[in-house]
Amino acid sequence: MKEKILELEQLIHTSLKDLSDSIFEHPETALNEHFACQAHCLLLEEHGFTIERGLVGIDTAFKASYVGKKPGPRVCYMAEYDALPEIGHGCGHNILGTVSTGAAIVLRYLVDEIGGTVVLLGTPAEETCGAKVDMAKAGIFKDVDVALMAHPDTNYFLSSRSLAIQPLAFEFYGKTAHAASNPEYGVNALDALILTFNNINALRQHILSSSRIHGIIKHGGEAANIVPDFSRGEFYVRATTKKYLQELVEKVIHCAEAGALVTGAQLKVDEFEPPYDDLVTNERLNKVFKEGIEKFSQEEIVAARDSVGSLDAGNVSHEVPCIHGYFPIADHKIPGHTREFAQATQTPYAYEKMAETVCILAYCGYRVIEDKSLMREIRQEYEENVKRGLIIPYTL
Ligand SMILES: [Zn+2]
Ligand SMILES: [Zn+2]
Repeated sequence: MKEKILELEQLIHTSLKDLSDSIFEHPETALNEHFACQAHCLLLEEHGFTIERGLVGIDTAFKASYVGKKPGPRVCYMAEYDALPEIGHGCGHNILGTVSTGAAIVLRYLVDEIGGTVVLLGTPAEETCGAKVDMAKAGIFKDVDVALMAHPDTNYFLSSRSLAIQPLAFEFYGKTAHAASNPEYGVNALDALILTFNNINALRQHILSSSRIHGIIKHGGEAANIVPDFSRGEFYVRATTKKYLQELVEKVIHCAEAGALVTGAQLKVDEFEPPYDDLVTNERLNKVFKEGIEKFSQEEIVAARDSVGSLDAGNVSHEVPCIHGYFPIADHKIPGHTREFAQATQTPYAYEKMAETVCILAYCGYRVIEDKSLMREIRQEYEENVKRGLIIPYTL
């Protein structure tokens, strides 16, 4: 099978290189990825995929499917293609999306024989509002059996964890008054917010040290001689598990409620960005990814690396067995979100690793389909994590 996969990648290698390069030349920020979306769809259509555009009401989201001639597991690859303002593809999503589309096309030429379905999801806006969150909520991942992707980096890393994050906005509504002559008529919305900060600081001593709570004052009043009647603070609450995050969020909301109670202000709680769940790597699937790297690359594998940030792939991992690995595009350290990282996607080394990773991900799909007990083990691990409360799927 190794030879067959290598051969299939060779056949599409130039189209893949062109896809990555053309998206590099046309960087589009979150939700504006019309060129990239079209470029992926055209290539997938050329290889027999059926495309559903405008998925979950997002113009630049899509689902491409190819159903094999025999039944079998449904393997999903996720393609990102949004760029960053000013610095273009500083996160390398041009090559990331290309690797996923490449793996989907290679696997598509195997499934008529081995059975199964290949799905490629075009998932826009990873850098901002994360379309995968809407897709998870809408139940898109209920129709697949595994979901895979790999992000460019400077090493092969196995899939690991990322933090769950809940953005919270607190708005306090009070009453203005002259701050010197009639302060007794005022309801101080800024004090309510300051108390919220102090309450959170008191809470901080008693939370798991792996958690983070951090915020800013967005609006604190108009003039020093007017009692502020409006204040707004924005906070991020982060935790290693979705379950603990839910507990923590409740406590942080209590901090704001206490501020409102003391001052008499009215509180409005809102999300200002979608919440990202922690990534729960399916370790059985991760093992297959490792096997793939060993088969198709000479590079050393650096054991799993925890992401200090949050990923929208986290939400996917609560719906379906999932991995989010990493592949190298340079043989030396280059920080992400820089122009240098964008340039690194254009090197012979990056194209070589792109080809390897297409083969590795296609191989993972092949293994999941041809080894029935493997798919059972992957599913079992997912179900156990649900039972243990480590995975909390959306209930539709
Ligand atoms: Zn990024
Ligand atoms: Zn990225």
